[in-house]
Amino acid sequence: MRYEVVVAGGGPAGCAAALTLARAGREVLLVDAGSGPPKAGESLVSVAGVLLGDLGIRHPVLGSGHLPCHGNLSAWGSSELHATHSIRDPYGHGWHLDRALFDQRLRAAARAAGADLLERTAVRTPVRTPDGSWTLELRGPGGRRTVRCDWLVDATGRTAALATRCGARRHVHDRLTATHLTLAPRPDAVDGCSLVESGPDGWWYTALLPSRGRLVAYFTDADLPAAAPGDAERFRQRMLQTRHIAARAESHALAPGSAPRRAPAHSARLDRPWGDGWIAAGDAAAAFDPLSSQGVLTALVTGLNAGDALDARLRGHRRALAEYGEGVRSAYAAYLLDHRSVHRLEGRWADRPFWARRVADADTGARPAPSAVGGPSAPPR
Ligand SMILES: Cc1cc2nc3c(=O)[nH]c(=O)nc-3n(C[C@H](O)[C@H](O)[C@H](O)COP(=O)(O)OP(=O)(O)OC[C@H]3O[C@@H](n4cnc5c(N)ncnc54)[C@H](O)[C@@H]3O)c2cc1C
Repeated sequence: MRYEVVVAGGGPAGCAAALTLARAGREVLLVDAGSGPPKAGESLVSVAGVLLGDLGIRHPVLGSGHLPCHGNLSAWGSSELHATHSIRDPYGHGWHLDRALFDQRLRAAARAAGADLLERTAVRTPVRTPDGSWTLELRGPGGRRTVRCDWLVDATGRTAALATRCGARRHVHDRLTATHLTLAPRPDAVDGCSLVESGPDGWWYTALLPSRGRLVAYFTDADLPAAAPGDAERFRQRMLQTRHIAARAESHALAPGSAPRRAPAHSARLDRPWGDGWIAAGDAAAAFDPLSSQGVLTALVTGLNAGDALDARLRGHRRALAEYGEGVRSAYAAYLLDHRSVHRLEGRWADRPFWARRVADADTGARPAPSAVGGPSAPPR
């Protein structure tokens, strides 16, 4: 098998890259390992619907199976709830995603655009051959096989599995970790908003899922005692000590056999998201704090941009990848300013390590970004 481009990772970034390249007429193979624990149950900001609409895939991807997200409530900086409602959002409402369904539909869209697709298959050991192409080992249900390609897209998520093998280094900004638990469905549950509530050592998040189960997540630093997850009952007891999260979640029972899961949620970026024969997109290139609600949108945008940049490079535009890298770098720098400003808004526990670490850097002169706590903001395309 030989392709112009192999895209490793069939999440939003990889699908957007494969779709863009296939539509540009490139021979693309999209490979997804389908590995790793299930996603927590993300919210998608409204502007992502515009992006998917521009690509002509909004209805097939978002038309059913997800719940509308009509806004965000946050108790941040005070115990009072502050509402950001989608009625004031020019792009309309967002979504509480069924993430498996979302990714599956994105992969189908990439395939319909002309990309070949291999699922439950991992890309391993990229080796550069003397003629400048790549030899990749693929491991899937049928065993091992080899594929050759001219270019690699690393869309493997936070591990940046291929870029790091190609010599790129990840700069990790903090130690944020998520502990999340899905509570049992309640068929009568109605809740159109996500909710964030800060505490002394981190912050809580809850949202209703399309299954009518309820996701509850707690975010703190991995090295703090508050990060110890305990079992489901202990997690629930801690959750019940909150004010607003508890009010929404207490009517949901523990799902039988459920246990809290841990997931890395730190901010990180590659020192440079491209190199000789490869380009990275999505979390592999730059991963954001889930507080921003920007991860899936940024994965889509960087996937599209990486696909465009690679196509331009193949057409002879020699600076295309460097320009892409500059875009990722400046989007991440803007995100860090917003991130610090938003954490400065919470002054009640300024001497606690979780909060002190996040405002410790020198004053950047950044303005607070009210949108960063769950609200909409423009895509960094
Ligand atoms: C707890 C938590 C809550 C979050 N909440 C939100 C939210 O509410 N809203 C939001 O927008 N974002 C949220 N995010 C961020 C969001 O999940 C990510 O930003 C987004 O999934 C990144 O997409 P991606 O395509 O880059 O990577 P991923 O979605 O991680 O996809 C990577 C894919 O690559 C595959 N893969 C890995 N290695 C290989 C390999 N070697 N070969 C082939 N395939 C491989 C994996 O199986 C996976 O399918 C949250 C993150 C966390 C941790």
